[in-house]
Amino acid sequence: MGSVGAKDVPVLMTEDGRRIDGRRADELRPLRIQAGALRQADGSAFVEWGANKVMAAVYGPREVHPRHLQENNKAIVQCKYNMAAFSVDERKRPGLDRRSQEISKVIAEAFESVIFVEEYPRTSIDIYIEVLQANAGTRCAGVVAASVALADAGIPMVDLLPAVAVGKVAGHVVLDLKKEEDNFGEADLPMALVPQSGRLVLLQMEGHMTRTELSKALDLGVGGCRKIYEEMKRALRERYAPTGTASAMEVAA
Ligand code: ADP
Repeated sequence: MGSVGAKDVPVLMTEDGRRIDGRRADELRPLRIQAGALRQADGSAFVEWGANKVMAAVYGPREVHPRHLQENNKAIVQCKYNMAAFSVDERKRPGLDRRSQEISKVIAEAFESVIFVEEYPRTSIDIYIEVLQANAGTRCAGVVAASVALADAGIPMVDLLPAVAVGKVAGHVVLDLKKEEDNFGEADLPMALVPQSGRLVLLQMEGHMTRTELSKALDLGVGGCRKIYEEMKRALRERYAPTGTASAMEVAA
């Protein structure tokens, strides 16, 4: 959340219900997903979502490094989320900061609850998320990219994991915040949904909402996730449909 004088705050919602980029409260930014964008990784995906550009690469199941993290009865899921120094307006200090560590942790935990980890004991499933261009919602774009990358790697999961941030802007509950809305809005609430069960496996909140607003925000987010889910499946079909029978299709079905 930004803290600036009122004169610096842009008009976030017009009287006829349009947002700073012309969207309605329940509209997503344009989303494009490419499955299998990298050659070297076991699975990969590139996501362009509004002005966000995010690449995810997945390796594994493979040997655990460092070794002492190995679990005898399941795979461990490790995630490294990183924002490139050139991904934001002001150059970001490169390397691991607390925000990246927190985001890496919550994303790893979200995926640990949807991957069939018990099928791959003593291994590691490694997720790398590189944010090349950031405009709010990058952790959600990272989850979407990583989820498609995991499917592309043929890693069995309960379901794909669509994610989106909802929030409160100029007193209105809105879907998929962009940068100005994130900076000057009243609340930001990223979430990730298991579509088939309706279970939320990532839910964070910054700012304030009333109980009624929260309930409205969750409904809006779930609806958004379901649209994103369709786009994720489309990306996997586009990669695998011409030749047919890859395991990713089973995951996405
Ligand atoms: P998310 O990207 O998941 O919304 P945040 O709410 O922490 O995560 O960040 C919102 C946005 O603020 C980011 O997408 C990015 O555009 C910007 N941002 C985050 N960290 C930095 C930073 N260190 N320097 C400049 N901009 C940043």
